Amino acid sequence: MGVVLHTHLDEVSKILTPKLNDGAYPCLILNADYQPLSYYPLSLWSWQDAIKAVCLERVNVVDFYAKTIRSAHSEMLLPSVLALKDFVPQNRSPAFTRFNLFLRDGFQCAYCGCENELTFDHVIPRRLGGVTSWQNIVAACSPCNFKKGGRSLKEARMILQHKPFQPSMHALQAQGRKFPPGHLHETWLDYLYWDIELERE
Ligand SMILES: [Zn+2]
Repeated sequence: MGVVLHTHLDEVSKILTPKLNDGAYPCLILNADYQPLSYYPLSLWSWQDAIKAVCLERVNVVDFYAKTIRSAHSEMLLPSVLALKDFVPQNRSPAFTRFNLFLRDGFQCAYCGCENELTFDHVIPRRLGGVTSWQNIVAACSPCNFKKGGRSLKEARMILQHKPFQPSMHALQAQGRKFPPGHLHETWLDYLYWDIELERE
């Protein structure tokens, strides 16, 4: 977009008008290939970080909010979508965190498929040498976790709906697409979902 940005970084801290809340006008961040940097959680920056990145020329401005901010010497539209100039590789292994494990399992109990009271279960219990790893931990609801107790699958006569595995970043991102955040600005939609219904004229 052919909009010249005259704002300098040292002016960002001196934005005069309007006063904006910290959480207002979040900016969607795309990788250099125009895919979201992350789907879940969706890669969003505050408007302050977005403007800093623009001033440092680390990003291309893809779209804007209909909102102008002014400093002493310049004004600019708040960016709503930015694309990084340098591609960030996504092929590193995802971190083994509670959140990522829930995401891998689709926020569902690996035994009964319900979505309530999710906890974690060691498939091979610790007393039998089971370790805390991608391959041995599943999301489990409290009742299933309680039912299984410290027993093996066989002992508990329970069946896993899927075998736990170490997900790739790509797999987690694909999984994240199924869980859109509550708020989506209209300028983000082109970059998020191919399957979103196109508005009829
Ligand atoms: Zn369950």
